[in-house]
Amino acid sequence: MGFGKVISSAITGIDGRRVVVEADYGDGLPSFDMVGFLSSEVREARERVRSALKNTGIEIPPGRLTVNLSPADLRKQGNAFDLPIAVSILVACGILPEAFTDGYTFVGELSLDGRLRGIEGMLSHAISAGEQGMRGCIVPAENAAEGAMAETVDIFGFETLRDVIDFLLGNMEKDPEPVPDPAARPVREEDLDFSEILGQESLKRAVEVASAGMHGLLLVGPPGAGKSMTAKRIPTILPPLTREEQLETSRIHSVAGILDRSRGMVTMRPFRSPHHTISVQALVGGGLYPRPGEMSLAHNGVLFLDELPEFTRMTLDSMRQPLEDKKILISRVHGTYVFPARVMLVCAMNPCKCGYYPDRNKCRCSEREVRTYLGRISRPFLDRIDISVELPRVSLSEISSERRGESSKEIRRRVLKAWEVQKERYRDDGIVFNSQLSGSQIRKYCVLGQEEKDLMKNVFDRLDLSARAYDRILKVARTIADLSGEERIKAVHLREAVSYRGTDRKISGFM
Ligand SMILES: [Zn+2]
Repeated sequence: MGFGKVISSAITGIDGRRVVVEADYGDGLPSFDMVGFLSSEVREARERVRSALKNTGIEIPPGRLTVNLSPADLRKQGNAFDLPIAVSILVACGILPEAFTDGYTFVGELSLDGRLRGIEGMLSHAISAGEQGMRGCIVPAENAAEGAMAETVDIFGFETLRDVIDFLLGNMEKDPEPVPDPAARPVREEDLDFSEILGQESLKRAVEVASAGMHGLLLVGPPGAGKSMTAKRIPTILPPLTREEQLETSRIHSVAGILDRSRGMVTMRPFRSPHHTISVQALVGGGLYPRPGEMSLAHNGVLFLDELPEFTRMTLDSMRQPLEDKKILISRVHGTYVFPARVMLVCAMNPCKCGYYPDRNKCRCSEREVRTYLGRISRPFLDRIDISVELPRVSLSEISSERRGESSKEIRRRVLKAWEVQKERYRDDGIVFNSQLSGSQIRKYCVLGQEEKDLMKNVFDRLDLSARAYDRILKVARTIADLSGEERIKAVHLREAVSYRGTDRKISGFM
């Protein structure tokens, strides 16, 4: 007869939270009950733990067994509790001394034969264990490298329940070393590169400007013009993730179960391209016990919406606030969840339904149909887009030209420089990029000389600009000036910025 208590961890949102697993073993008719606000997977742990113990050769004498997971207000989900439940039972039955489990956080799924299986969210469990001052985490071998990336707590990975018991009892022939942080491993050479995009110089320039100021970008062009090909390569010209960003992005991917454990931390900026049929929940995150959506999976990287007019208005509108706030807040009765979502928005669309407007040899759409097609995108959503660029059909001469374009590495060097200029300038402003400038900040940081003022007045009158469009031109011009290393915005910068508003004027009322 006895009592056992071990520490485990649950995921809420993207954070790990301490869970205490207690087992009480008493006299009475043999039974096995589990309590503590458990999901059905956690309830099923009973069967897995029972079989795993038996197949590990451990005989639990018949008795009344009760397992409780606390805190009671926290919903316990997933399969990570199998291992701590098994260990707490071993302590309650006197097979393991409780002192031997002190200071460890246990997570892991058990298979019926007693093997340990990998779980989701390991990085968040490890970060949380580190914050609690635990001395180590005992985890499935499969998760060890991922847990070690947190660098805040020692990680011990095991293949089987038997190994965990031997380790705790000190029966191992040789104590396992904590797993080293795999971040030191060399990063795979990325196989996508900007040099593969032949010709299209003005497109590449627009993409560079957008990347330099993290401006929302819209690519308009016929099928086959290279819209997705270009979008996919944008992460290769963005500066590398900082260590902090790697951790943020990796833990989101880990919780969502898409972290490639063999590759360690996410080191490339993510590129996510949700299909236009995606549900709002899958896009921004949600559910009764919320999980991150595509916008959060793209955190610190690129969110690419191909065939923009096919997305429903409701879907696009659901992204507006997150794009503004760079995060998603989801409230539930049991708490508020925060999912980061700092993304570069890149959209692509055909110029009309058939895709070939204004090529009248191919396009049979009426002017009205073209306008209706473009008008499907809600205007408040378009307000998130600073740069739009039209892709012509690539000419044969461009495709057949031998000359390869600049490599991603060369472009990235310039983008990085522009990022650094902005970071320094906005040190005390709570923003990082030109695209985030507020109205008053624009007056402060986008000061124009007389020549430039005259130019803008001319453009303003001629194009019948809205105040919003006017501000967007100034923000983009600021980025162009930063790319050329110039303190003042000059007429040439403004002219280029104005040229990035050409396409969207066709979308009625946009400018
Ligand atoms: Zn058409």
